[in-house]
Amino acid sequence: ELAQAFIVMTKNLKSNISNLQIEKTKIEKILENMSDGVVALNSQNQLIHINSSAKKMLGESIAKFLEEISKNDDIIQLDNKTYQVTQTPFEDLDGRQGKIYIIHDITEQINLDKMRKAFVANVSHELRTPITTIKSYSETLLDIDDDETKKQFLEVVIKECDRMTRLVSDLLYLSKIDAGESIFEFSQHDISLIAKGVCQKLIFQAKKKNQKIECNITEGLMCLVDKDKIEQVITNIVSNAILYVQEGGVIKLSTYKQDKYACIEISDNGPGIPEEDLPKIFERFYRVDKARSRNLGGSGLGLSIAMEIVKAHNGHIEVESSVGKGTKFTVKIPLS
Ligand code: ADP
Repeated sequence: ELAQAFIVMTKNLKSNISNLQIEKTKIEKILENMSDGVVALNSQNQLIHINSSAKKMLGESIAKFLEEISKNDDIIQLDNKTYQVTQTPFEDLDGRQGKIYIIHDITEQINLDKMRKAFVANVSHELRTPITTIKSYSETLLDIDDDETKKQFLEVVIKECDRMTRLVSDLLYLSKIDAGESIFEFSQHDISLIAKGVCQKLIFQAKKKNQKIECNITEGLMCLVDKDKIEQVITNIVSNAILYVQEGGVIKLSTYKQDKYACIEISDNGPGIPEEDLPKIFERFYRVDKARSRNLGGSGLGLSIAMEIVKAHNGHIEVESSVGKGTKFTVKIPLS
């Protein structure tokens, strides 16, 4: 009877151990494949477990991180990253209390939040300036009898309204691209001919500033593009050159083939862009000389729109510049 009881007990024990083993493997698999980091410390604050997400997140900074979590904060800032940490106590075999920390990398969320706030602040600021001007000019207009001055004031009001319209339509355009709306209609076009058309359209604008536009194209660069949008990219870059280059300056536009790309190069001998500003000029609302750009009617969105359009064509925009010498933009679109 006793032997029989032992046999049953051994069987049960084996089955329990194997069930525990299965459970353990399952939990290990879950821990290893979680996108959140998991770190366990024993009662002496020694690291007893770390999953691969936590290793990937923290890398070399693990020691610094352990120092930070001992302060019991929910949010930890480390090496330009922000982590949200939740902790739960657990009891080990000796009945002593260790802690398990679940780490969630919220850096991207925080950056997006900052960008959203900066964007709202920028839009409000951009709209407030023309609204203030329109209000003060209109109020003054009420007391003016002289027709000539009235006309001048009304011209300012119209100019500011145009600026607001431009800003709002640029913003709507960007939000359509951001929302992934299919605003592109692709068909085969010779990029060189699109570029030539833009030059011809803008020649009069350049002439007003005594500037020369030199157009040197290689025909036959066929690409699958949305013609109007690519026209807008080239127009934005050439209009910027006309705007920022001094009177009598020269703007050169050329097109050529390079590897699998059709390239449109727009260079000028204008004031150039300082090196530290170059990586930022494609950001929304970024301007090198804020007051000057605003006075010239810029919304600070032209290059960011150009960048979004080119990205939608799987292309790139490159920029080189030297202060006092000039700027060169190169738009590269894959050839078809
Ligand atoms: P904006 O509406 O201010 O022109 P953009 O996004 O088109 O906005 O351009 C961003 C900034 O890049 C401009 O404010 C200007 O400072 C700078 N920039 C663009 N093109 C040129 C150029 N050809 N020469 C000098 N600076 C330029």
